[in-house]
Amino acid sequence: MRTELLELSRRLRRRVRDDRAAAWKLSPAAESGAASDPALRLRRLAERIEACRLCGLGAARIKSVPGVGCPRARVMFIGEGPGFSEDRRGEPFVGRAGELLDRILAAIGLSRETVFIANVVKCHPMKDPAARDARANDRPPAPEETAACRPYLDEQIAIVRPAVLVTLGLSAARCLLASEEPMGRLRGRWSKVVVAGSELDLLPTYHPAALLRNPALKKDVWADMKALKSRLEA
Ligand code: SF4
Repeated sequence: MRTELLELSRRLRRRVRDDRAAAWKLSPAAESGAASDPALRLRRLAERIEACRLCGLGAARIKSVPGVGCPRARVMFIGEGPGFSEDRRGEPFVGRAGELLDRILAAIGLSRETVFIANVVKCHPMKDPAARDARANDRPPAPEETAACRPYLDEQIAIVRPAVLVTLGLSAARCLLASEEPMGRLRGRWSKVVVAGSELDLLPTYHPAALLRNPALKKDVWADMKALKSRLEA
């Protein structure tokens, strides 16, 4: 009995010592586990994005907007860049366009928690960076800003490893497809793209903000979402 108690006490002391060590430093095994944990890798990437000033957008924006959603999502939605509300929240697709995107996702059984949502650029492109509190100060990202930020998107895709990319709007479609075609020709057409060494299915559709301006586009987006649902269920 005494021997068993001594052994138990020895084990407890070892456990306390190991726990203390783990509290300030990850073991090599834990480090390698962290390296393969997509949620942790996305958080670390978000910290790098927050510190980034690689292009001029980083100087004027309030919050960086790296992306949100499931770290192992099967589908990634990619928009153009943050706007006024996103810049303040640090989250993509908030405000009226974001609410519409939520409804579109719900219509095909998806949600913000089951997909990943990101943008081509992670900082708010403004027409006048000196007036960052002004509304309607948004603009599409310039090619050099898109090029500077693209490695972050590629890294997100490499971490999440989605099966399908859905681009929202012309800038995102052109960026991912390296195309100059108009939205009317790109939308609803499946393509294969290679990102970070993996071949992915890509479907361009309209940006929710375009639907708010022109509700007639809803039928096209609904057709695209039904095609997406079929592809995910195949
Ligand atoms: S937009 Fe992208 S590249 Fe430019 S500062 Fe922000 S995170 Fe960096």
